[in-house]
Amino acid sequence: MIPAAFDYVRPTSVDDAVRLLAELGDDARPLAGGHSLVPLMRLRMARPSVLVDIGRLAELQRVEVVGDRLHVGAMVRHVELERSGTVREHVPLLADTARQVGDVQVRNRGTIGGNIAHADPAADYPAVTVVLGAEMVTTKRTIPASAFFEGLFTTVLEHDELLREVVFPLSPGPYRYLKHGQRLFDWATVAVAVHRGTEGWRVGLTNCGPVPVRALECERALADGTALEDAAALVAEEIHPVADLRASTRYKRHLAVELTRRALEVAERP
Ligand code: FAD
Repeated sequence: MIPAAFDYVRPTSVDDAVRLLAELGDDARPLAGGHSLVPLMRLRMARPSVLVDIGRLAELQRVEVVGDRLHVGAMVRHVELERSGTVREHVPLLADTARQVGDVQVRNRGTIGGNIAHADPAADYPAVTVVLGAEMVTTKRTIPASAFFEGLFTTVLEHDELLREVVFPLSPGPYRYLKHGQRLFDWATVAVAVHRGTEGWRVGLTNCGPVPVRALECERALADGTALEDAAALVAEEIHPVADLRASTRYKRHLAVELTRRALEVAERP
């Protein structure tokens, strides 16, 4: 299918990109890896009048530890997160997640910023940002991940606001991202991210509601010493899955509980 006609501009800096987005108005959209936006354009579910290509902006490409935080630029591609020794050492849950995004072509082009800004409930990074207490640094402000996702495919970003980077606390403790898809390299039917830091276990779920869900009751039970299996069972009541072509709500609840139990068990192993 062929997209509707659009113009294309390539800014030379982040400031230039923001200026263009402000000038061009609501119909202009940033283009990152194009792996979510372009398919929507081909289906004519998105019809931007102008694409503002941020793909070559070096300012958005850093992966760097500063103090007790890992800074990941919005244009960092999935494959770089998967392979980076820095990410693997300091925020291994992020590397574990990146290697499970799509297939190799998707990972070579898609970016963490595009993935998060797109806010697909089945996307893999949003639950990880919530579990790890990451912050979204935009061209206007800094937003905790827990306040960034507003609803289905909706974030608090304004039309002339770019996500600059995602900042993660260094999180080397036990972790696991477990994902169930219908096929190899598929989107998550349901997935779970678990991490144990100084404040105990954190548990987050993908595709169990319009935005990523943090399973607070499950976390509290784990802190109280409840057996993993019993704590994981609490997740069923904390999520709001919607039936789709992949699974019924009942099956998604079953998957959420089972994946949480397995992720906690595997993460505990030395
Ligand atoms: P784009 O498509 O360029 O942009 C997506 C949206 O974000 C657009 O609205 C754009 O305007 C906006 N945007 C981009 N960057 C910024 C920014 N810095 N600031 C503000 N707004 C911005 N994802 C998964 O999580 N798991 C999967 O298993 C998975 N499988 C896939 C399989 C296939 C076949 C395909 C095509 C995609 C799959 N994806 C999957 C999606 C993939 O990860 C995308 O790369 C990602 O969701 C979007 O990133 P992008 O860089 O391609 O962004």
